[in-house]
Amino acid sequence: MDEPAAERPRTHGAEGPCPEERELLKELRFAKTVLDAQNESLSVVTDLVFRLQQRLDVEAIARETVEALQQYRHPPLVAFYLLERPEGPLRLVAGAGFTEKERELGATLPLEGSASGRAVREQRIVPMEEVVRNGRDVHPVVSELASRSVTSGLCIPLSHGGTPLGTINVIFPNGREIRPVEERTFHGIARAVSLAVSNSCHLAGIEHLAFHDALTGLPNRPALHRRLAPPPSGFAGDQAAGLVLLDLDRFREINDALGHNVGDDLLVQVAERLVARRDGQREDVFRLGGDEFAVLVPGARSLAELDAEARAILAALEEPVKVAGMGLEVGASAGFALLPEQARTSHELLRCADVALHRAKQTPGGAAAYARELDEHTPERLAMLSELGRAIRDGQLVLHFQPKVALQYGFVEGFEALVRWNHPRLGLLPSSRFVPFAEATDLVQPLTAWVVRSALEQLARWNRQMPRLTMAVNLSMRNVLDRSCPETLAGAMKEVGVDPGVVEFELTETAIMADPTAAQTSLGRITSLGARLAIDDFGTGYSSLSYLARLPVDVLKIDRSFLADLAPESRNLAVVRSTVQLAHALELGVVAEGIEDRETARALRDMRCDLGQGFYFARPEPAEEAGRHVARGGWIDVPV
Ligand code: C2E
Ligand code: MG
Ligand code: MG
Repeated sequence: MDEPAAERPRTHGAEGPCPEERELLKELRFAKTVLDAQNESLSVVTDLVFRLQQRLDVEAIARETVEALQQYRHPPLVAFYLLERPEGPLRLVAGAGFTEKERELGATLPLEGSASGRAVREQRIVPMEEVVRNGRDVHPVVSELASRSVTSGLCIPLSHGGTPLGTINVIFPNGREIRPVEERTFHGIARAVSLAVSNSCHLAGIEHLAFHDALTGLPNRPALHRRLAPPPSGFAGDQAAGLVLLDLDRFREINDALGHNVGDDLLVQVAERLVARRDGQREDVFRLGGDEFAVLVPGARSLAELDAEARAILAALEEPVKVAGMGLEVGASAGFALLPEQARTSHELLRCADVALHRAKQTPGGAAAYARELDEHTPERLAMLSELGRAIRDGQLVLHFQPKVALQYGFVEGFEALVRWNHPRLGLLPSSRFVPFAEATDLVQPLTAWVVRSALEQLARWNRQMPRLTMAVNLSMRNVLDRSCPETLAGAMKEVGVDPGVVEFELTETAIMADPTAAQTSLGRITSLGARLAIDDFGTGYSSLSYLARLPVDVLKIDRSFLADLAPESRNLAVVRSTVQLAHALELGVVAEGIEDRETARALRDMRCDLGQGFYFARPEPAEEAGRHVARGGWIDVPV
C-alpha cells in the first residue's frame, strides 16, 4: 500500500528511525491498511444497499449485487447462484469476470460436489482453498479456474429465516488473502442480499397468486388486462392482437353429474390442450373463471386469421378428454375480436369477444367474429334501433326493384324487392346499414311485414300488365323461425290479392345452414302456401348436398362473388357451371346475381343458367323507374 509522503513519520537523526519508531510506523501502516479496507468495504456495502432498494425481481438483485462487488479496487470474479429447488441444483443467475467455458461449466452446481453446495449445506462461508486442499467437492469449474491460477475465493451462503436461498461466490484472481474485516463485510452483504431475495420471492408469490388461476396455473382475468395494458407494462397501443374467447359446451352437466373433482380434472386438461395449441406458450392462455378460457393471438391482423385459429382450437377440444377412466366429449364455442380495429382497450376487447361468443353459441360449429351489428350495446345501434322503429311507422322506408332477366330470351321474368331507408338526416341508406341491426332484434318482424306488403302491392299493380311477373322478397331467419310467419305471409298475399305462384321468398344460405333442421320445418310451412323459395347468396354458406336435396327449395341464387372471373378455364367458371348443372339435376331454377358486363351475361347464358340479375341489366331502382320494363312488356334494352 502506498504511503503519502506527508504522513510518513520523520526522524530527527540522520541514522533513521529508532526501533520504537519503526514499530510504531509498522502499526500505523497496518492500521491504515485496515482502515482503507474497511472504507472500501463500507463504500461497496453502501452502494449495494442503495442498488437493492430499487430492485424487486431476483434477476435484477443478482445483477446489481455482481456489479456492486465489482466496485472493489481489484475487481473480483463474482457469481450469483440461486437454489432452484430445496434439493438443488444451484443456478447461475448473474456473473462477471468468467470465461465462456467457466460460465458453461458453472451454469448449474450440484449441492453435493461443489464448494457452493457445501456452503449451502453447512450454512457457512466456504473458502475455495478448503475444497482444493481436501480434494472433496471439487467441481470441474474449480479445476478450470485453477488452470489459469485462480484458486482463492469465498462461497458465501444466502439464507433467510433458516431457508437456504443460494450463494454469492467472490473469487480473487490475484490470489490475495481475505482479511477478517472483509469476511465480516461479506456476512453483512449476504444478509442484505438474502433479505432482498426473500422479499422479492415473497412478492413474486403474492403476485403469482393475484395473476394466476389456482387450479390450472394459467394467467387469469386481471393478468389478461395487465398483458394488454398500455406500455410500458403491456402492449403498445397500435399493436395488433386477437382474442378468442371460449366457453365449454357441456361443462355444467359433466360437473353436476360426475362431481367437482372430475370437473376440475377436465378443466386442467382443457387448459393443457389450449397451451399445447399455442406451442406451449402458457402466457397466451387465460382462464377467466368457471369454464371460460381466452386465447390471445399476438400479431393477428384479420378476422379470417382469427377464425382459422378459433376453429383449430375448437377442433382440438372436440377430441374426447380422458378423465376418471372415461372419454368425455366437452366441445366449446368461440367468439373472437380484433385489437385495435374493433376495440381500443382490453376491457372493450373482452366485451366484443363476449358478444361474438353469445352469437357463436347459437350456431353449431360454434365460432363467430365480433361485428358491430351483433352488438346490442353500441350507442349507434341503440339510437338506430329506436329511430328505425319510428321510420317503419312513419313511412321512411322505400323499396327499390331490380329485374331478373331470363338469359335465354332477354326479358324480365320478375323483380327482387330491396329495402332502403330514406333517413331524414343521413339520406338514402342502403340495406346493409340497417337490416343487420334489425335482424338481430325483433324489429325485423315489422320491417319484413312492411317490405312484404309493399312489394306485393307493387306486384299486384304490375301483374295487371304482366300477370306472370314475379316478385322476390328477402326474409331473415328470424322471420322464418317465428311461428306466425306463414300466417302473416299468407294473410298479406290474400289481402293484396296476388297469386302465391308468382311470389318468391329468398333466404340466405348462411342463415339456413346455421340451423338446417329448424329451417327445414319452417321453410316447409312457407312453401306449402304455394310461394317459391330461393336460397340466396348460394356458395357462401357450406350447404351439404344432403340438406340441399331435403330442403323444400325451388331456386338457387349463385352468389355474385363467383361471377368475378368467368374466363375460360377459371375455377369460378367450373364452380358456376357445376352449380347450374346441380340445380338442374335437382330440378331447381338457378339465378346468377351480380352480372356487371355482357361477357358474364353471355357466359351464363351459354351454360344454360336460367335467370340473371345485376347492374349490367339494371340497378335496383324506385318503382316508377323499374316500371319502364313492365311498360315494355318485359323486354330489356341491353343485349344478352
Ligand atoms: P341480396 O338479397 O343478395 O341482394 C342483392 C344485392 O346485390 C343488392 O344489394 C343489390 O343491389 C346488389 N347487386 C345487384 N346486382 C349487382 C351487381 O351487378 N353488382 C354488385 N356489386 N351488386 C349488385 P343491396 O340492395 O344493398 O342489398 C344487400 C342485401 O341486404 C341483400 O342481398 C339482402 O340480403 C339484404 N336485404 C335487402 N333488402 C332486404 C329486405 O327487405 N329484407 C331483408 N331481410 N334483407 C334485405
Ligand atoms: Mg336477395
Ligand atoms: Mg344475394
